Amino acid sequence: MANSYDPKTYLGMAIDPIHVGTGGMGLGRVDNAIVRDPVTRVPKIPGSSLAGVFRTYAAMAKGKFPDCAGLGQTRRDGSSGHCGKADCHICTTFGFARGNAGGFAGLAAFSDAHVLLFPAATREGPVWLTCPMAMRAVGQELNGVTDDAVYRNGGPSQPLNLGWLLLPVRPLNGAESVTRALEERQVPEHIRDHAAALPDKLFSHVVNSNLEVRTSVAIDPETGAAEEGALFTYEALPRATVLVWDVTCKNPTHFKAGGEQVAAVKSPDDVHKVVATAHPYFEHLGIGGMGTRGMGRLRVLTETAPQAASATGTAKEAS
Ligand SMILES: [Zn+2]
Repeated sequence: MANSYDPKTYLGMAIDPIHVGTGGMGLGRVDNAIVRDPVTRVPKIPGSSLAGVFRTYAAMAKGKFPDCAGLGQTRRDGSSGHCGKADCHICTTFGFARGNAGGFAGLAAFSDAHVLLFPAATREGPVWLTCPMAMRAVGQELNGVTDDAVYRNGGPSQPLNLGWLLLPVRPLNGAESVTRALEERQVPEHIRDHAAALPDKLFSHVVNSNLEVRTSVAIDPETGAAEEGALFTYEALPRATVLVWDVTCKNPTHFKAGGEQVAAVKSPDDVHKVVATAHPYFEHLGIGGMGTRGMGRLRVLTETAPQAASATGTAKEAS
C-alpha cells in the first residue's frame, strides 16, 4: 500500500551570511532584524519563505518561470499567473492560487528551517554548537545537557570560551550517535569533529550574541550615490551555519488539480524530486535579502535524505 505522505529531513549549510528579514525596520539594536522563533528567540527561516523560494527555483529548473512561479496573480496585461494544470510539475507540487477548480494547496509542505549547528569563535577555532531541541530535528535525544557548560566528545577539558563567555567542558553522552546522524546527512567532517552541545536556553543566548551584524549604505538608484542618512545595520546567520528543515510530500494519486487527476507526479518520491530540482539554485542564487551584497547562498547537504525523525519514530513504534 502506498504511503499517503512522505516526510524527509534536509540539511543545508550557509555559504554566505543569510539574512531572512522580518520585512520591516526593527526597533532593536539593528535596523534590519531577521526572523526569530517567538518562543526560543533563535533565528529561523519561515516555511512560507522557504516554500516561495523553492517554488521559484523549481519553476526555473522545469522551464516554468515566471508563469508558474510566484504568487500567481493576474498580470497587468490580463494574462494569468499559475497554469494550474494537472500535468504541471510546479502547480501540482507547490499549488496554485486559482483555476477551473478554484485552486490547490500543493503536494509539498515545508517546515521552518531551524539552526542545527551554529559556528562560534573560540580560542581553539570555530566550534559548531547545537542543543537538545535542535538535535531532535534529526531524531537525536541529547541526555544530560542541562548545566551551563559545553558538552562534547573528546578534546581538551579545560574551560572553553564562546565569544566572550567562558564555560566548563563536560563529556557528551551518546556523542557517537550524534556524529553518526550528522554523517548520514552529509555534514562535513570538519564540522562533525568540532560539534558541541549547549542547553537550549544557553544555545539561544549564544546564537543571538554571535550573529553577524553588518553596516551598509543605501544607494539612491537615480544618482548612484549614497542616500543621505542611509547608513543602516542588518543582522544575518553567519557563514557555515547548518540549517535543518522537513519537506512532507503527499501522495499525488489521492489528489485532483483543476478537476483532473494529478498527472505530473505519480508518487511522494516524485514530488520530492521536483522539490530537489531547486537545490542547485540555492547554492548559486541564495535565499533571503541582501543578495546583491554577497549574501544568502545555501548548499543543500542532504541529497539522499533519510526519512524525517518523526516518521522514523513512528516506524519503530509500529515494529
Ligand atoms: Zn503550472
